[in-house]
Amino acid sequence: MKLYKKPTIEPLQSILEARDQRAFLKNQIALKSQPCVSLSLNVPGFPKSNSTTKTFFRYCLHDLKYTLKAHRIEIKEDETIEGCDLAGDFFIVPCSTANLNLMEIKQICEDFEKNHPLGRFIDADLNDQQGNSVSSGESKLCFFCLERPAIECRRENAHDFDELRSFMFPKMAAYCMNQKEESVIRKISSLAQQAILSEISLSPKPGLVDKFGCGSHADMNYQTFMDSTAAISPWFIELVRAGFDFQDEDLTKALPLIRKTGLSMEASMFETTRNINTQKGIIFLMGLSLFACGKLYRQNDRFEVEEFRNIIRDICKDLVKNELGGINHSGKSHGEDIFLKYGFSGARGEAESGFRMVFDFGLPQLTGVTELNDEVLIKCFLSIASNNDDTNILFRSNPVVLSGFKKLCNSALENLTDTSYSAVIDFCRKENISPGGSADLLAVTIFVWMVIKADRQQIFTF
Ligand SMILES: [Zn+2]
Repeated sequence: MKLYKKPTIEPLQSILEARDQRAFLKNQIALKSQPCVSLSLNVPGFPKSNSTTKTFFRYCLHDLKYTLKAHRIEIKEDETIEGCDLAGDFFIVPCSTANLNLMEIKQICEDFEKNHPLGRFIDADLNDQQGNSVSSGESKLCFFCLERPAIECRRENAHDFDELRSFMFPKMAAYCMNQKEESVIRKISSLAQQAILSEISLSPKPGLVDKFGCGSHADMNYQTFMDSTAAISPWFIELVRAGFDFQDEDLTKALPLIRKTGLSMEASMFETTRNINTQKGIIFLMGLSLFACGKLYRQNDRFEVEEFRNIIRDICKDLVKNELGGINHSGKSHGEDIFLKYGFSGARGEAESGFRMVFDFGLPQLTGVTELNDEVLIKCFLSIASNNDDTNILFRSNPVVLSGFKKLCNSALENLTDTSYSAVIDFCRKENISPGGSADLLAVTIFVWMVIKADRQQIFTF
């Protein structure tokens, strides 16, 4: 890519010179008998480029390139000329016509403008092999008055430049913000899916379903978890977006919203697994995490551990007291039963603490880790499991077995060998227990680690 250097002369005369320079560049391409596509913005007044137009231009360019490629128009990336001069941001690229004639390519450029929500601010043009501008003969309406052809309003300076600029810049800024938001939402959702699949695929795991077997479960296997994950994943986007859109000061009001989506996810999970509960726990924990990420990116535009934890804590404020404190009869769910029997608060307590197990025991195991692998994930799991009062274990056994399990996990973590890890696996088999709660917290840990990594690599900025 050639970067075109910005001239240092004064406006007006030099804007014309900049345009001449662009025409010259297009002619250079024509000398090689190649047509070229170019992109620029209609920015009235001066300066013609600022941070808003630049970001908007980058989104448009990205879109245009994909549109051309989707139509099998080959653009010569290594001969691209992209830059900013006094006439604004611009892009010129030679293209090969493939099976299309020039009028068909021109039509694709026109359709690109027409279909773009702010296409009236964009000029996607085509020059032929002789350097002449290819015209469709259609005149465009002025984007401001929508009454007269743009060319007339421009020629007569029919509208005040400041008025035009304050009309278009906020629209461009809102468009860019929306694009950014959508890309953050997509990325965070995909990381959640990746994290859940990584946890499921980690093998072997004590008592849990993995690639090699079903652990202590008779009614589900690896495939059940694949199916179930596919069934719940379509809601991830909705959860992040709900976080982005949430305006209320009182975050406890977010809990019913998250739970409502969670109920749809559960229904989809049960339908897919034929009534087997594979992922109720992770639906709750990941639901909170996805919502909190949306809220956080709307607020700060970046991931902050303490802020993330505070959002989770605020959403789940008094959750244990409100939902488990008043139970004086046989509990309705596993979690309620366990709380009644032993006083362990399970996923609710973990959420109310802002994911203490994740941040105090899981994530520290991944400090300095650049790529995840089985060994670090097993350590991460053992660190969580040796501290977590896993209600899934209690549901099938008692506190003595839980304490034995935690001790074994701790020994395995201190000296991780095949023997020490096998001891944990054998114990789970013998006691027929499954640390599903710790597995869910491992998935959340992986998710948080991935979001932090993506954030550091600036994946969320365009
Ligand atoms: Zn007009």
